Amino acid sequence: MKFATLTSCFRRLEVTSSQNEMIALLARLLAGTPPDEIETVCYFTLGEIGPEYSGVALGVGDRTAAAAIALAAGTDLASVETAARELGDYGDAAVRLAGRPPEGIAEAFPAAGPLTVTDVHRGFAEIARTSGPGSADRKTRVLAAMLAAATPPERRYLVRLATGEMRLGVGDMTLLDALAEAFLGAKAERPPLEHAYNISSDIGFVARTLLESGLPGVLAISITLHRPIRPMLTQRVSRISEIPERIGSRVIAVEEKYDGERVQAHKDGDDVTLFSRRLTDVTHQYPDIVRHVRRCVMADTAILDGEAVAFDHATGTYQPFQTLMRRRRKHRVREVAGEIPATYRVFDLLYVNGESYLRRSYPDRRARLEEVLGRDERISPAGRTVTEDLDEISEFYLACIERGLEGIVCKSCAEDSFYRAGAREWQWIKWKSDYGTELADTLDLVVVGANAGRGKRAGTYGSVLCAAYNHEEDVFQTVCGIGTGFSDADLADLPRRLAGARVDRQPARVAVTPQAVPDFWFAPAQVVEVLGLEITESPVHTCNWDPERQRGLALRFPRFVRWRDEKRPEQATTAAEVAAMFRRRREG
Ligand code: ATP
Repeated sequence: MKFATLTSCFRRLEVTSSQNEMIALLARLLAGTPPDEIETVCYFTLGEIGPEYSGVALGVGDRTAAAAIALAAGTDLASVETAARELGDYGDAAVRLAGRPPEGIAEAFPAAGPLTVTDVHRGFAEIARTSGPGSADRKTRVLAAMLAAATPPERRYLVRLATGEMRLGVGDMTLLDALAEAFLGAKAERPPLEHAYNISSDIGFVARTLLESGLPGVLAISITLHRPIRPMLTQRVSRISEIPERIGSRVIAVEEKYDGERVQAHKDGDDVTLFSRRLTDVTHQYPDIVRHVRRCVMADTAILDGEAVAFDHATGTYQPFQTLMRRRRKHRVREVAGEIPATYRVFDLLYVNGESYLRRSYPDRRARLEEVLGRDERISPAGRTVTEDLDEISEFYLACIERGLEGIVCKSCAEDSFYRAGAREWQWIKWKSDYGTELADTLDLVVVGANAGRGKRAGTYGSVLCAAYNHEEDVFQTVCGIGTGFSDADLADLPRRLAGARVDRQPARVAVTPQAVPDFWFAPAQVVEVLGLEITESPVHTCNWDPERQRGLALRFPRFVRWRDEKRPEQATTAAEVAAMFRRRREG
């Protein structure tokens, strides 16, 4: 496929404001994509180079991109920086700046004729492979040669792909809808594709299987070691007494809730891979957990789900999340691991000795986990109690809080309490220590806009417009604007943090009312944790919009808590969760 075919579709996607049109455009594109390029087309459309878990990183920042644009256009760095400042984007700067590249640059990326998708993939693979001394220069030359071989519109997207700032606003579910429409006749046929995606975490792989082997091939996709399974998520309630009403089983397992980092461990003999909540490979970050899994998991192959925590065995206390986060580093990993050892508290078993456990009930999975996991100070099943009694749930909760834990996660013990990869349903319900406000939990919202700051806030933003994710409709619906809770440093950093997501028109998947239209738009990218007082009906916000009553839901008195960089926009609080919180408060 010509790269130009792809970029002209990108251009149309960028200017469409209709979700259905977006799906139709993508479906047409995918239907015309050859099998050997469909994976790449999927990744590029999502603004990625490969599946997230593969950890392929180009290592191209703005500086390298600017240097490559300058080299390809035969101009100097200052002209590129000026154009990028004026246009607000390096991709657009690469379109504007045309000139003669130096002799011999094409050798860094030989391409015959117009660029193809395969050519671009080859170029990026070369850039990703380049490391060690002199690699920045080599990356610059390859990217410059790719730019020199490209047409102006192609240059825009080469730069945006290279710097990871595509801003098309296409999410995983939109792409799955388009695949269903292109190859299964309608977007309503998405569920089997979504399931395959949930257990493989690789949309390109699902697309290629669909093209080559049809629906039977997709249905046959099974768990593969070293390829992450999308984690099952928890629901929330606003009164602890709601847990037994909602959970769908008389017998409830009440587990300790740890405030650490979610880690999915794949054991394949001695080969262990660890994945984060975002499905990135964090093996190098936890050499101690790798050791514990190798030593204590009594099975040839297994996949475990659990939480990495910093537990001080000397004092018997859990350290705060921030302590563990000091382990997120590239250098001195072992040294810091010695200072802050991680303990792995395992709460689920998804696969063992070649067999998937996803369709086994929670009690079966837990029983097998206890057989498979040899006890050790640093790795053990999550502490829990099993009960039918609400008072016992409350007592266990209070005991957890006293021990410095964050709360509890209640789990259904019903026969159908399967591990639902990627889903947030009522089989798992969290109950956390109160944040000292009316709402029992914070919301994780997506920044979609901002208003200019005035007075003391001139030069930064005065407030940011935040949205929840409506999973059914695959759109982001606004809930509130936040202007409080930011420290001075947070405020000053806002323009830098949001720069990569800035777009010049309302993104297609963002729904706002005319009253809420912000001064600036952002493609859904940044997730922010927000604390609020209550949820009310509002004509201003589109969350769970009721067209008849012309009302949505809004969060009152929102305050900034922290950025959630480990979350993708589609992992934000959903509109359905906001609606459930609203209903419960009104009823309770
Ligand atoms: P979510 O992961 O549900 O989007 P979040 O990132 O805001 O939300 P929390 O609200 O703290 O996280 O709760 C869910 C997280 O709690 C899980 O993703 C998991 O990392 C963690 N957790 C800790 N203990 C347990 C447990 N026993 N069972 C399940 N999850 C647990």
